[in-house]
Amino acid sequence: MDVSVLLPKIALSLGIGITFGVWLHKYLHRDQTETLFFFGNTQYYHHTTNDQNDCDCRTCKSNTLIKWLNQAKHSLDICLCFITDETLTTTIIDAHKRGIKVRIILDEDCIRTTWKMGMAGIAKKVKKAKNSDSIMHHKFTIIDGKKVILGSLNWTPKALRKNWENTLITNNAEVVRAYSKEFEKLWKQF
Ligand SMILES: [Zn+2]
Repeated sequence: MDVSVLLPKIALSLGIGITFGVWLHKYLHRDQTETLFFFGNTQYYHHTTNDQNDCDCRTCKSNTLIKWLNQAKHSLDICLCFITDETLTTTIIDAHKRGIKVRIILDEDCIRTTWKMGMAGIAKKVKKAKNSDSIMHHKFTIIDGKKVILGSLNWTPKALRKNWENTLITNNAEVVRAYSKEFEKLWKQF
């Protein structure tokens, strides 16, 4: 084939290939975020719509949180001041039972209520009151080292059913990296 015909064809193919490659990279690494706002006192048992994704009730918001946790394929790194909610405790234990590597960092105030997870064999680190009077007040969870759940929410019945609370779930690489680094630092410390 004549070079003057071939060259533009090669250039066009390369251009399409590069454009597709850039688009695919952006698509695979696109930011995925979800926000959950729990509104004080109201709407715990009553669906506001039949669509769980749009429903403003607390049951649907709790289920969304559980849905994200159930998506874990390899690991759950949980750093929370309090975990006392039965449903979320069961979600964590179930993840451990299906082979997910679960690690939990807690404040000592909470250990009376997390014995079930300890009994199930889940790795746990506790910030002891005798070592510091500062509270381990974090609330974040890293899923598969790729997503982070963060915000004001402790996993307690009161937080889930009564309080005003906010939660952000994001796969933003920079945010996930920072929280993962902090988790490893705390895991060594406690
Ligand atoms: Zn609902």
